[in-house]
Amino acid sequence: MDARTMSRVVARLQAVAPTWTTTALAAIAAETGQDPFRILIGCLLSLRTRDETTAGASARLFALADTPAGILALPTRTIERAIFPVGFYRTKARGLQSVSRHLLERFDGAVPPDLDALLTLPGVGRKTANLVVTMGFGRPGICVDTHVHRITNRLGFVRTRDPEETEWALRAKLPERHWIGLNDLLVAFGQTICQPLSPHCSRCPVSRSCHRLGVGTSR
Ligand code: SF4
Repeated sequence: MDARTMSRVVARLQAVAPTWTTTALAAIAAETGQDPFRILIGCLLSLRTRDETTAGASARLFALADTPAGILALPTRTIERAIFPVGFYRTKARGLQSVSRHLLERFDGAVPPDLDALLTLPGVGRKTANLVVTMGFGRPGICVDTHVHRITNRLGFVRTRDPEETEWALRAKLPERHWIGLNDLLVAFGQTICQPLSPHCSRCPVSRSCHRLGVGTSR
């Protein structure tokens, strides 16, 4: 698919997006004035966890502590109780403390704004780093999670095997003005219409442009 058609598809999705449910990370960004630290923590909590669970866990944790020093001052057990039932909550509780410690010891307690520095933090991969760069700092990046990987392949934007390959393919093809909001747009789209199993193609606003690559059953 060429860049012009991709832009038209993104614009069409953006026009419909206000009718979809707000994603957990977008809600955290809006409620915290785009605080990079809380976006980072919310993203780490969201890994392998449903959006509704992430939202509740983040709210309970941030009511107790919303800075690296605050998180580090909490007993691990308290963090575990606050973030339960996110997936791997025990491992994540220790991970949040580890990230907070690194931020305090290496970055004066502030979240670094660039991708390479973020990738040096424990447990932070390209998905999380790109999300913090885009949502927390408004800088160009493309956060590719399972929704973005699945949907951009179905649409025919890219033909890739894994999320990292998708990120590089999109960086090469997709006009930069669409990068920052792409993750939130496609996560909401993936939760509402283009679901992993049996997507709602019959009520999809971009069905006429979609290549439907790899789509079996649909509604
Ligand atoms: S037509 Fe179907 S597969 Fe294509 S984007 Fe829409 S819902 Fe997804």
